[in-house]
Amino acid sequence: MNNPAIIKINPLDNVAIATDIGGIRMGDMVADGIVATENIPMAHKIALCQFNPGDSIIRYGYKIGAANCTIPVGSWVQEHMLEIPEAPALEEIQYSITTPKAVEKLDGYTFEGYRNEDGSVGTKNILGISMSVHCVAGFANHIITKIKDQLLQLYPNVDDVIALNHTYGCGVAINAPAAIIPIRTIHNLARNPNLGGEILVLALGCEKLRPETIAGEEAETDILYMQDETLTGFEEMMQAALQMADRHLKKLNARKRETCQLSDLIVGMQCGGSDAFSGISGNPVAGFAADLIVRAGGTVLFSEVTEVRDAVVQLVSRSADEEVAAKLINEMKWYDAYLALGNADRAANTTPGNKKGGLSNIVEKALGSVVKSGTMPIVDVVSQGDRIKKKGLKFVATPASDFVCGTLQLAAGMNVHIFITGRGTPYGLAMAPVIKISSNTKLASRWHDLIDFDAGPVATGEKSIEEKGWELFQLILDVASGKKKVATDVLGLYNELALFNPGPLT
Ligand code: CA
Repeated sequence: MNNPAIIKINPLDNVAIATDIGGIRMGDMVADGIVATENIPMAHKIALCQFNPGDSIIRYGYKIGAANCTIPVGSWVQEHMLEIPEAPALEEIQYSITTPKAVEKLDGYTFEGYRNEDGSVGTKNILGISMSVHCVAGFANHIITKIKDQLLQLYPNVDDVIALNHTYGCGVAINAPAAIIPIRTIHNLARNPNLGGEILVLALGCEKLRPETIAGEEAETDILYMQDETLTGFEEMMQAALQMADRHLKKLNARKRETCQLSDLIVGMQCGGSDAFSGISGNPVAGFAADLIVRAGGTVLFSEVTEVRDAVVQLVSRSADEEVAAKLINEMKWYDAYLALGNADRAANTTPGNKKGGLSNIVEKALGSVVKSGTMPIVDVVSQGDRIKKKGLKFVATPASDFVCGTLQLAAGMNVHIFITGRGTPYGLAMAPVIKISSNTKLASRWHDLIDFDAGPVATGEKSIEEKGWELFQLILDVASGKKKVATDVLGLYNELALFNPGPLT
């Protein structure tokens, strides 16, 4: 008889996860004399007791659903057998100030970064070309190609030149209340620490989003209007843009990496293509590293409103003060209303891939997802498209959509991105390095040149969360210092920026 491994996270759990690559076979004995009554694939759940209709199914110590049929002990607990619980009512959440968890300081760690005039620090040295309207996106792409062909080799310290492409700017209700989200996102993306404070804006001239809005008060900003009447023909526009780019490239090229404190590190956490292992291995390892970063004075961002909505009570209790708790609840309320307008709720989040990977519903996904924020107090909540103002652990409100979340975390000021996946995705960002973590070794082996870090040994019990957490922390510092390149940077595999625009088009 085989004895395949299973993992139970919390002593209260009445289901466990199959962790062997081959899963569990019918007749296998898993633990405590429990014999599997059918084949159960890797990452899926086995019943550790018999469930009658209405019984609670517990994972991570919380109810992930109620059985809607009889589920015998040793059988495969599948999505269709669970009724999803109601989302916690936001109006009823109580918040009482408890003494925030004491943060044990971690000293002696630094990284090599590019210091900017505004005090932020880049982990890359990139020329970003912003735009006020999508009309000029083709022009921007032309310029990028020309810069790469003719200029970039003259400036070896510059890592890349990228267009901050988006589909906003005109044909939108620019004064609608929700328009503030895309507008401030575009504004703050241009200020990402990895772009060195060099702001160059391509504009058309007649658009609703004024290029000056992106430029802000920065004296060094350059704006080029295609409709400028002194420019005749495309070639002249190109030359004008190249001259502008050349000035900024010169300044970026003069920069050198210097030793920086971890208080200059802004690490964004995200998951995508999750499976049932994400909450066992990938997210806990990321959460351990998140605690180390915060203890060393750095900043960690976590996001994805629909994925933490069901864990809101835990998050409120981790808020540093009442103001943070109120902000957190407000962001959830705003998102509930936004989803309701589209006749959807947070249950729309889980994908067919999540389910194939063993995640039955959004509650199970949320409980595993929130683990990547670690255990430190939440010191601030940042609205969609806003830039962070404090150090420490922050909730940055974003949709869970990978590209939109990544874009909003870049606007918040992220300079390193951690991305945990179980199913696998080639997701990458040009503006900041993306360290991709695999929740299981099966994926890490198959995608050996796409995954940067394998947290799988935690799921099989070969390594502890602490060991892998320290290993990840060191990798973050190496990547931030430019000593190690992430897979997507080696391959040049990048997603487009994707704005969150909840406002109306006209
Ligand atoms: Ca995501």
